[in-house]
Amino acid sequence: MGAPRTGDDVSWKQPIDSGETPDAGGTYDAIVVGGGPGGSSAAGYLAMEGKRVLLIEKETWPRDKICGDAVGGKSLSHVKRLGVKEHLESTPHFRVTGILFSSPKGHSVRVALPEEDVARLEAGYSLPRQQFDHILFNQVQTLVRDAGGAIIQGGDVRDVLYDDGHGGADPGEGSQSARHAKGIVVRIGGRKGEERTYYASNIIGAAGYRCPVAKSMVEETYGEEMVDRDHYCAGYREYWRGVKGCEANVGDIEIHFVDTVIPGYFWLFPVSEGVVNVGIGMVMSLLDKQKKKLKLLQHEVIHEHPLFKDRFADASMIPGTGKGWQLPFGSPRKKASNQPRRSSANGVFLVGDAASLVDPFSGEGVGNALVSGEMAADHILNGKTPDAYQDALWAALGPELTNSFRMQKMSRRAWLLNWFVGKASKKPAIQEMMTEMIASKEAQENLHSPWFMFKTLMF
Ligand SMILES: Cc1cc2nc3c(=O)[nH]c(=O)nc-3n(C[C@H](O)[C@H](O)[C@H](O)COP(=O)(O)OP(=O)(O)OC[C@H]3O[C@@H](n4cnc5c(N)ncnc54)[C@H](O)[C@@H]3O)c2cc1C
Repeated sequence: MGAPRTGDDVSWKQPIDSGETPDAGGTYDAIVVGGGPGGSSAAGYLAMEGKRVLLIEKETWPRDKICGDAVGGKSLSHVKRLGVKEHLESTPHFRVTGILFSSPKGHSVRVALPEEDVARLEAGYSLPRQQFDHILFNQVQTLVRDAGGAIIQGGDVRDVLYDDGHGGADPGEGSQSARHAKGIVVRIGGRKGEERTYYASNIIGAAGYRCPVAKSMVEETYGEEMVDRDHYCAGYREYWRGVKGCEANVGDIEIHFVDTVIPGYFWLFPVSEGVVNVGIGMVMSLLDKQKKKLKLLQHEVIHEHPLFKDRFADASMIPGTGKGWQLPFGSPRKKASNQPRRSSANGVFLVGDAASLVDPFSGEGVGNALVSGEMAADHILNGKTPDAYQDALWAALGPELTNSFRMQKMSRRAWLLNWFVGKASKKPAIQEMMTEMIASKEAQENLHSPWFMFKTLMF
C-alpha cells in the first residue's frame, strides 16, 4: 500500500461561498442547525432527495473543531455516499493501519485493523477536522443549494419557535409534549447582529454539545437533564510537530492508559506531514475529583513520563492549538426516560453530539453523527415520526454504546488494564479478537460470552 497523496490542494483553508443569506420569514422542508458532520449528513441526505433545506452554521469557514481527528471506518460509507471520499483522500491525511494500546505499567499491544479494510481504503484516517468538515460542508452546501435550499454561515441560532406561541422558554405544565416546533430565530452578523426567523415543520438540532435546539427541547420542553457529568467527558488537544515515531503518513494511532491519567487516556493521533494530534480525555465527574486540570496533566505526561519524554524531546507544540471541549457520551443513563438522552419531540430531531452519541470508550463521535444524520433524514423522507427516530436510533446504536460503556468502566481499574494488556501483548489470539471486535458488531457480542472471554484470555 502506497503512502497517501499529499497534493497541493489547500482549499479547506479558504472561505466557502455559500450564496446570499435568504430573506427572513422563508419556509423550508427542514431547518438544520449546525454544519458539523451530523448536520452536514442530515442536510446532504435530505437535499439528495430533493428536499428544500435551510442549513445554518454559527461559524464562518475556515473554522477549527477541537477533536482527536480520527475518522473511523463507520464514517467512510457516508463520506462516499455524500460524494467526498475521493476528495478527502486526495488531500493530506494519515492512513490508520492499527491501534497501539499501552497499560499503566508500560506494556503495549498493537491491534491491527482488518487488512482487507485497509487495502480497500475502508479502515479509517486521521486528518484535521478543519479539513474534514470543510470538505464535507462545501459539498453539502452545493447539494442543498442545487435542491432549492439555502445556507447561512455566521448564523447563531438563538431560539426555537413552537405552535403554542412560545419561544424556547418554559411553556408551563401540561403543554410539554403536545406542542410542535415550527421554526427558529437566528442572529446574523455577530453579537449586535440582526435576528431573523425561518420556518419548517422539521427542525434538526445538530449544533454539538451545547445545541440550542437540544437545550430548548430537553431542558425547557421536557424539564429533563441535559448535562450528566457521569456521562460527559472533558477533552483537551494540542497539535505537535517532531514527535519521534510519528513521522510517516501511514501507521498506527496510539491510545495510552497512563497511570496519572486513569481513569481516562492520553492519545497520539498523527494527522500526516509530521503533525500529531496529542490529547487527553476524562469523564467529567471523575475529573472533578482530580486536583489538576487536563492541560497540566498532559504537560506532565509529555515532559516527565518515561514512555514519552524522549519522544517529545525535540518536538514543539504548534502555538495556539491547545484547546478543550466536551464529549457527550452515549452511555445508557439510569435516570433518563429515553436512552441515552431524549432526542426527539414534535417536529424536532437531534443528531450527533446534540443527541449525546459519542462512544464512551473510544471517544469517537464523527461516525455516529453521520449515522444519526442519515437516520433523521430517512425518517423525514419517509414521513416517520421523531419518536420513531428516537426508538430506531437506540435500537441501532444502543448495543455498541452499552458495550463501550462496560469497557470504559473496566478501563478505570489500573490492575485490570495491566493484566489485560500484559496478556494481550503475548497472545496473538487476543490481538485477533480485538481486531475482529473493531471490525464487526457480531464479534463485540463475544464480549458478553464468559466462556469465550475465559478461553481467549486463559489459554
Ligand atoms: C477533545 C476531543 C477529541 C475527540 N476525538 C474524536 C476522534 O478522534 N474521533 C471522533 O470520531 N470523534 C472525536 N471526538 C468527538 C467528535 O468531535 C464529535 O462527536 C463530533 O464532532 C460530533 O459532530 P456533530 O456534527 O454532532 O457536532 P459538532 O462537530 O460539534 O458540530 C456542531 C456544529 O454546530 C455549530 N453550532 C454550534 N452552535 C450553533 C448555533 N447556536 N447555531 C448554529 N450553529 C451552531 C458549530 O459551530 C459546529 O460547526 C472528540 C471530541 C473532543 C472534544
